[in-house]
Formats: sequence, C-alpha cells, structure tokens
Amino acid sequence: MTLSNDFAQGLKLQADIVRVVGEYVSLKKAGAQNYSGLCPFHKEKTPSFSVHATRQFFHCFGCGQSGDVFTFVQKVENITFPEAVRLIAQRLGVPMPKVNFSSPAEAQDAKVRMALLDVHVRATEFFQA
Ligand code: ZN
Repeated sequence: MTLSNDFAQGLKLQADIVRVVGEYVSLKKAGAQNYSGLCPFHKEKTPSFSVHATRQFFHCFGCGQSGDVFTFVQKVENITFPEAVRLIAQRLGVPMPKVNFSSPAEAQDAKVRMALLDVHVRATEFFQA
C-alpha cells in the first residue's frame, strides 16, 4: 500500500458515488438520498442494490455487498485498492501524487488504461440506451 490515505480520502469527497455507480448500474431515485438498481454482484430481477448519496456508500440487500466508492470500483472492475483510487482520480481529472507507483507502474498503467476504456465504453452504452 503506497498510496497516501489522505489522497484517497480527499478523492472520495470529490467523487460522487451515485455518478460512479451510475456508470455501471442503472439507478433510480428511491428516496430523498437513496438510489436503487439491479445489483452488479449477483443476479437478480428486482433491485435490492441501493446507493446512499449523502453517506456515500452502497449496500446490496440481496448478497450483502457494501462499501464506499473505492470498494465498488474494486469489486466491479476486479482491481486493487490503489488501482481503484487511480482510476477514480483519472476520471475526475485529479493528478496522482508522484511519489508512488515506482516499479510495477507501467503494468499498472496499462491495466488502468484498459479499465478506463472499458468504463468509458460502458458509460457510453449506458447513456445511449
Ligand atoms: Zn447483490
């Protein structure tokens, strides 16, 4: 774990979990601060996946998955925490701290770029639908 936690926390404040999750899951407003949709982590026909806008976390009543925006991206993209942080930073246009990612940086870069591309494609499909 080379990333500073402060950076991740600051990023979390800037990232809107509803928008990030909304690129993977079709969310519907289900209350003042809640959104619901079909869970991306298990198969279901009625939405039991919910996202809380103010508290910035997600929870699935069907399979019990829950967490914050980083947890969501980690699980849905099957990537590590630092990769999830980096992916969100790139999408928000926030520069990463330069001290980290020394040796396996290139491999990580490639993986993140692929993930980004994938997200972009899916986001585009979602908005076109
Ligand atoms: Zn679920």
